[in-house]
Amino acid sequence: MPQETKPVDLWAGPDTTPDLTSRHVILGPVTERTGRQLGSSDWAHVLDEPPYGCGRRLMYRKTGVEMSEPSNDYETNAMYRGKSMEPVIVAEYEKHTGFRVEPVYEYHLPESLPTWWRPHPDGKIHRNDGRGPGALEAKCPSIRGTWRTYRREGLPTSWIMQLQSEMAALGARWAAPAILPWGGEYALWTDQDGDVPEIRRDDEMIAHMVDLGEAFLRKFDKGELPAKQDPHECKACASCPWIGLCQGRQAAAEVAGAAGGHDELILEADPALEALLAQWDEFEEIADEAKAQLAGLKDRFGEELKRRGAVAIRLGPGRRLIRRIDTKGSPGFDKKRLQAEKPGVFKEYVTAPKPNSYVRIFGARGGGNGD
Ligand code: SF4
Repeated sequence: MPQETKPVDLWAGPDTTPDLTSRHVILGPVTERTGRQLGSSDWAHVLDEPPYGCGRRLMYRKTGVEMSEPSNDYETNAMYRGKSMEPVIVAEYEKHTGFRVEPVYEYHLPESLPTWWRPHPDGKIHRNDGRGPGALEAKCPSIRGTWRTYRREGLPTSWIMQLQSEMAALGARWAAPAILPWGGEYALWTDQDGDVPEIRRDDEMIAHMVDLGEAFLRKFDKGELPAKQDPHECKACASCPWIGLCQGRQAAAEVAGAAGGHDELILEADPALEALLAQWDEFEEIADEAKAQLAGLKDRFGEELKRRGAVAIRLGPGRRLIRRIDTKGSPGFDKKRLQAEKPGVFKEYVTAPKPNSYVRIFGARGGGNGD
């Protein structure tokens, strides 16, 4: 059985005592962060979505398991930043669009939604063109961290789910992600027409989220923990306050060592290192930009091949463009399943780990990089 709920509240809000049996939801930090409910930011964990999502970590928090690390790192720096920047971003959104944003302290949960559905929208948008209200979600991702990936590959599924959960709770048909990237030009993210993008409500996705949430909460009811992540690969583990409990002391020490916990030299300033880091940041920016340009060019080549009805084009000596259609796909290997179902076989073929030394650059990107 889950342990008794022990709320951890780092940004205390109004001291409200919600009536959890009612569909009248009064929002407060406690209702959102512990117990048998799923708040908007929990979806990344339900999905185990990289880089910081982990269902197991969410379960430790929801069931009030005591943290094993002497840390108050309840979630991530990004969450603290997002919370403090929220009023600024809402004000920027109002200025940019001319729409009015009303704070959301409570709502009446529609009958079609389960009672554990507990999003906390950052605002309800009222516009003056006759369209009904929309949900607002303020975000402040690091421009050197996740935002570069999201800008290139699209918003993460958990953000879309977050917006869907808020639309469903507010009975809205549309929502706006108001994104003010951190560390770059001070401007809201907009499309090529200069508008803040909007997302439409998707009832199919909402139904799927209800199933996903039910499956997660069934584990909660039985006191079951979701599977562990690999602490050497999962960024969430590096900042997880339950790592010692979850992965054992040795793995926790190894991860802390990789993140600079061992033999750490604290410097106030170092011009030589700072200059190298500035170069690092600059080259990363260029590399990201170049990757996006190359992907765009590849698409253009594909279109040209299609337009000319060719699967390949030879252009002078040595230059060929080939369009491949892979109907079979490539076979995958499910290492986790083998480990779970045939641990003996798995163990027999695992080789002894070799000492490995590498450098990771933390801070600038909000995580680590540069193996
Ligand atoms: S240590 Fe890693 S796998 Fe375990 S709960 Fe924390 S983030 Fe999840």
